[in-house]
Amino acid sequence: MIQRINHFISGTVAPGSSERFQDVTNPATGEVTGQVALANASDVDTAVAAAREAFPAWAAMPPIRRARLMNNFLQLVRENKDALATLITAEHGKVFTDACGEVERGIDIIEFACGMPQLLKGDYTEQVSTGIDNWTVRQPLGVVAGITPFNFPVMVPMWMFPVAIAAGNTFILKPSPTDPTAALFYAELMKQAGFPDGVFNVVNGDKEAVDALLEHDDVEAVSFVGSTPIANYIYERGAHFGKRVQALGGAKNHMVVMPDADLDKTVDALIGAAYGSAGERCMAISVAVLVGNAGDQIIGQLADRCRDLKITDGMDLSAEMGPIVTAQAKARIEGYIQSGVDEGAQLLVDGRGFAVEGHENGFWLGGSLFDRVTESMKIYQEEIFGPVLACVRVDTFAEAVDLINRHQFGNGVSLFTRDGNLAREFGRQIQVGMVGINVPIPVPMAWQGFGGWKKSLFGDMHAYGEEGVRFYTKQKSIMQRWPESIEKGAEFTMPVAK
Ligand code: NAD
Repeated sequence: MIQRINHFISGTVAPGSSERFQDVTNPATGEVTGQVALANASDVDTAVAAAREAFPAWAAMPPIRRARLMNNFLQLVRENKDALATLITAEHGKVFTDACGEVERGIDIIEFACGMPQLLKGDYTEQVSTGIDNWTVRQPLGVVAGITPFNFPVMVPMWMFPVAIAAGNTFILKPSPTDPTAALFYAELMKQAGFPDGVFNVVNGDKEAVDALLEHDDVEAVSFVGSTPIANYIYERGAHFGKRVQALGGAKNHMVVMPDADLDKTVDALIGAAYGSAGERCMAISVAVLVGNAGDQIIGQLADRCRDLKITDGMDLSAEMGPIVTAQAKARIEGYIQSGVDEGAQLLVDGRGFAVEGHENGFWLGGSLFDRVTESMKIYQEEIFGPVLACVRVDTFAEAVDLINRHQFGNGVSLFTRDGNLAREFGRQIQVGMVGINVPIPVPMAWQGFGGWKKSLFGDMHAYGEEGVRFYTKQKSIMQRWPESIEKGAEFTMPVAK
């Protein structure tokens, strides 16, 4: 059944006024399951007006009361974890257990946001001059927007809105039109949790909606996660209109394998990190840098494991990898595989032509593995965002570090070794934002903050964690002198937040 997927504005599902729609498909079957409304500038304006109206009362509510509502939301997301994961698998294609993991990582951030009263505490200096004290507070910005990618329709928006809202802002989410249904589901949960209408709004759409948000006078800040060209555009355009912007972009994450590493565990880690979620993770490992004889030792095992991947409908609990998100993404990845062959890399496992019985119209690709990839090749330079692992051979650790430091992206990286000193040097020298030592996908926890370097992040603040709180608040310094103190009458009850 084809469902109509609308917007969520001021506590209600709203069809919007635009006549444009986009098909939503189940990638495992190729079936069109929904049609998502693509907002126009007037729909965006309606959502921003709702958020703006809700802002003063929301910002004035004591942080502990905002946190209590966030705690209600936390419980509701926990109770609905499987339902959310099912929606993710149906529109994204990732395997159900991975989708559950995605929801869990979103839950972590909601839990972090429940601690907002502590996070908003300012500092205080007594007696900066005689009789004068000076302190700082952090206050919310107003209406803020989040523009998010297809690959984590629950987790990535949750990097943003729980922190922004608990800090006192009101929020407009513009999810990816590829898998928009989950956002409407948790918008309903926000309502059930008791958030006032207009505090959290969802506007579905494409470039038209994004441009309307960027240009809108009442949007104070924009958080973006997606590909690098769009991140760059959002950063420049948002800055042009005077907004605070954080724009997280694409990636090419390397894993360096030293010959002294535990090679069986390294192969396990590489297979999971390269092919999990069909490589459609911004922290997926897409390049293995094999140092010295590590390459000869593991390449055969890697190829066997790549051929043996269990690829089927993500709702099948034995699946290790599901389909590719769309037919267009599949065609793009196939183009990259061909370019690797044309440029002379050795294609040890070719995932093209893969089919799943009973799901002939799904967007399937098997895992692909290249060896002898070199720095100048397109499959090394560009983000493929699919189940394709490129192995590069180098002789020394220093060459591995230099190679990675020359790359345009700097999102995640990892090193597998048993040498503590090498690991320490790697952490110090590498020009990448998130580093794993014997950890393939080092996604920081909720209180630590997420962000890459170079073309993987435009702006200075990382997502969530204390950086997230800083991004969604502005500092005010107050200096105060009282010539006389005012006597108050006696109070006999414990003071409480009102
Ligand atoms: P995308 O850049 O195509 O889309 C991201 C968002 O931008 C969507 O909401 C989309 O509707 C909007 N958009 C697309 N084209 C636009 C345009 N021309 N103008 C204005 N808005 C536009 O990314 P995607 O394909 O949905 O997601 C995959 C990408 O996201 C990969 O590059 C991946 O590395 C990246 N990603 C990065 C991180 C990170 O934390 N750095 C996390 C997840 C995904």
